[in-house]
Amino acid sequence: MIRSTTKHYIEFFDGNLPIILSAPHGGEEMPSEIKTRTSGVFDKDDFTLELTKDIIEEFYNKTGFTPYGIIATISRKKVDINREIYEAYEDEKASIPYNQFHHLIKSSKESIEKRFGKGLYIDIHGQSHPKGYLEFGYLLDNDILKLHETELKENQDKSSIRTLNNFSQEGFIDQLRGPHSLGSLMCNHGFDSIPSVKLPYASDGNYFEGAYDTIRYGSLNGGNISGIQIEFPYLGCRDTKENRKQCAKAFVDSILKFMIIHFQLDLKKITP
Ligand SMILES: [Zn+2]
Repeated sequence: MIRSTTKHYIEFFDGNLPIILSAPHGGEEMPSEIKTRTSGVFDKDDFTLELTKDIIEEFYNKTGFTPYGIIATISRKKVDINREIYEAYEDEKASIPYNQFHHLIKSSKESIEKRFGKGLYIDIHGQSHPKGYLEFGYLLDNDILKLHETELKENQDKSSIRTLNNFSQEGFIDQLRGPHSLGSLMCNHGFDSIPSVKLPYASDGNYFEGAYDTIRYGSLNGGNISGIQIEFPYLGCRDTKENRKQCAKAFVDSILKFMIIHFQLDLKKITP
């Protein structure tokens, strides 16, 4: 049985796996006491709240354990949690859900560092680019992804998986887009993804490389918890209940394989 608690418009799943999932843009609550934002991006990432819960449930089904989950139920029109404070909100009262979200990610990271010494942070979003690929963001933009291997390698220090080399059986290029990269593992399930063996970069230039949460909670600035932003397309991943379940199954299966190759952790066999 998976339980959660909700405080200050942030739903929290306490975890026991070395995985943190966050979803900052899937909420729709519009508390009247907090002033609505007048500038910035307001788009809701439709059904990412539901998809994130499906992923948490699927982790439990496959391993008997749960990842940490931090999900905003408040609308992006009130606070954009995936931004620095100065552009996140206009009403000081929005600092309460904002700080709650970030406090819970920080405390989850501390628990994982204590229990496992390493782990993976994933920030879940939804995009509406025309080609409908999954976009895995490592803080390296599309022009960087287009570079040849030697030059691409030099960008490891700018990525959100900067310290993954401490554990991975594979080198940086393979972590990013080799056969055991998250993108390629999802391609194997029929979910075409960037970057991957099949699609090393976005041919039409439509690609999100990650933002504030991924910068802050991945390993760009050190530590043994690496981070990846994921932008799910609408069709096939978020549009129906059945598709969300199928996508969650493929995603958890891919993460379990990724954790074995790149973190030397079999999540089915850990003792939390
Ligand atoms: Zn988003």
